[in-house]
Amino acid sequence: MRKCVYCNADLPDNRSMEICDRCGVGVWGHKQWSNIKKTTDEARDNGDLSLFKEQEANMEQPGVKWRDIASKKLA
Ligand SMILES: [Zn+2]
Repeated sequence: MRKCVYCNADLPDNRSMEICDRCGVGVWGHKQWSNIKKTTDEARDNGDLSLFKEQEANMEQPGVKWRDIASKKLA
């Protein structure tokens, strides 16, 4: 079973992000979190998370980087 990187909650196996809904919404808000899940799940299904990383590099939120997620702590 995979765990949320923030709170250690169990995650569904079909999730590409290692972040639970509660923490995801807490960090990004409902709208952006659902968009992030959709984007990353599609990228994973296409076997191309690197594409998402490129998109993320161009995202308007400079504070959130894919590679920082694992080490990021909730405020
Ligand atoms: Zn969590």
